[in-house]
Order: sequence, then structure tokens, then C-alpha cells
Amino acid sequence: MSNEKSPFRIERRGLDLRFRSVALSAREWLTPAYVRVRLTGSDLAGFESLGADDHMRLFFPAGPVDSVEGMRAAPSREYTPLAWGDDWLDVEFAVHGDEGVAAPWAATAPLGSAIGVGGPRGSAVIEGAPGSWLLVGDETAIPAIRRFARQIPADRPARIVVETSASDHEVAVDAPVAVEWLHRGDAAAGSAVIRLLESLTADDAVGDDPFVFIAAEQSVVKPGRALLTRWDIDAGNAVVKGYWKRGEAEYHAPH
Ligand SMILES: Cc1cc2nc3c(=O)[nH]c(=O)nc-3n(C[C@H](O)[C@H](O)[C@H](O)COP(=O)(O)OP(=O)(O)OC[C@H]3O[C@@H](n4cnc5c(N)ncnc54)[C@H](O)[C@@H]3O)c2cc1C
Repeated sequence: MSNEKSPFRIERRGLDLRFRSVALSAREWLTPAYVRVRLTGSDLAGFESLGADDHMRLFFPAGPVDSVEGMRAAPSREYTPLAWGDDWLDVEFAVHGDEGVAAPWAATAPLGSAIGVGGPRGSAVIEGAPGSWLLVGDETAIPAIRRFARQIPADRPARIVVETSASDHEVAVDAPVAVEWLHRGDAAAGSAVIRLLESLTADDAVGDDPFVFIAAEQSVVKPGRALLTRWDIDAGNAVVKGYWKRGEAEYHAPH
């Protein structure tokens, strides 16, 4: 499938990079290892995120900070804006243990804790209508998958596949098709996604002109790209991304 023939394309849009100071105002556990938090503050007026897989940078200061510079100096990690309004922003976190900065913060920070939000500074927007959809990810990709799923017309062929550790780690996802859950059990994160990707042949396409989104632990990228080749999909018209990397803190996915 070449770009010229495709009924859709991914368009990059820049956004003014803004930095906002907000506070943790609510926490809702959706599974034992997945938490939705609400951030609130008047700084969120005008917050915008045009693309379903946009990311912003969240800054996690160890204690109270009294300046934007102080907030910016804090450790930061990339997260997907899930939903927002004039003065609130919801974010979902995979809580992967005690390691790191972001996951422990999401799990344990006291309500009222200060947090910084930078960006999103750009968006990738689907222009036109994909003929079909394949969304594949692990827990970290659920927020982006939720946002893409809202864009899928009810009559369009689609597959949504999410890897998690076990059935009690599944979450409800509002989508026109049932989510297929893969359970990795004690196996390495990404292994169930990799098995799926490697099993899909040229004849297993979901439908014509698919939009493909694949995001999980970095080792899914190679088999993800191989699938694009088998399905003759222009890599510029798909998203295949490592959202984190085993053993590496603050992994930066190439953008
Ligand atoms: C574009 C983009 C959007 C993202 N959106 C989201 C989102 O909406 N929600 C979300 O939960 N994550 C999201 N992520 C992933 C998130 O940025 C990483 O998981 C991040 O590393 C978590 O930071 P941390 O401080 O908890 O751990 P770090 O300090 O970065 O890492 C500490 C250790 O934990 C490991 N680790 C990191 N993440 C995981 C994980 N998920 N499972 C198991 N081990 C892990 C690392 O390999 C390292 O060994 C996104 C990533 C990208 C690139």
C-alpha cells in the first residue's frame, strides 16, 4: 500500500510548547497494577492534544517547588493525555513495581501533590478514513488505544489486542469491537505481543488500507516493522513504537 493510494495519511501538527503546574486531585485503581489519576489546576486552560498517541512530559518533584525552573529540574517521564477539560486532565499509569519515578508517584503520592505537565508539543493526526484498524499494545499503550478506539467507525473492520500479565489485569475499553486480551503470565513483557505479530501472515490483514498502531516494550518494534513489510504498509502511515525498554530508566523512544 503506497501513500498515494491510501485513503488516509498521518499528518504532523505542531503545538505551542507550554509548561503547566497542576496537582494530583484523585486516584482510581482500575486493576491492582493500573491506576487512573486526575490532575487539576487552572493552568490546564487551553490544554490541547490532537493526536490519539500524543505524549506529554510529566515532571515529578520530590517535594514542594516554588518556581517553574524548580519543576522543570525534576525527573520527568512521557505519558499519554487520556481526557481533559478546562481545569482537569486524566492520565493512566501502568504501575510496574517500586522502580522508577512515575509509577511509584502514581501509586502513592498524597492527594494535593504538585506535578508539572509539559506539552504535548506536537501531534500526529489521522487525516482521512482508514479502511481497517489494528491496535496492539501493552498496559502502557491502553490510553492511546482508548483514544484511537473512539475514532473507529462501528462498521469498520478492526482488531484491538492488549497484552497484560493475567486476566485480573484487564480493564474495560470502550470500543466497537471486543478487545482480545493476551496474558503473558510470568514470561517477559512483550512476549505475547511478539508471538501474535510473528503469527500474522500476509493473508491475516484485518481489512483493506489498515491503520496499524503497535506500542509496548521496545522488543516489539522489530516484529512490528516486519509485519508492516508483510502487509505492504508504508511505515510513515503507521505507528510502531517502544513505549519503554526493559532495564532502562527514562527510555526515550525515537520520535
Ligand atoms: C509516547 C509514549 C506514551 C506513553 N504513555 C504512557 C501512558 O499513558 N501510561 C503509562 O503507564 N506509560 C506510558 N508510557 C510509558 C512510560 O513512559 C514508561 O513506562 C516510563 O518508563 C515509566 O517511568 P517510571 O519512572 O515508572 O520508570 P523508569 O524510571 O523509566 O524505569 C525504571 C525501571 O522500570 C522499568 N519499566 C518502565 N516502565 C515499565 C513498565 N510499564 N512495565 C515494566 N517495567 C517498566 C524500566 O525498564 C526500568 O528498569 C508512554 C511512553 C511513551 C514513549
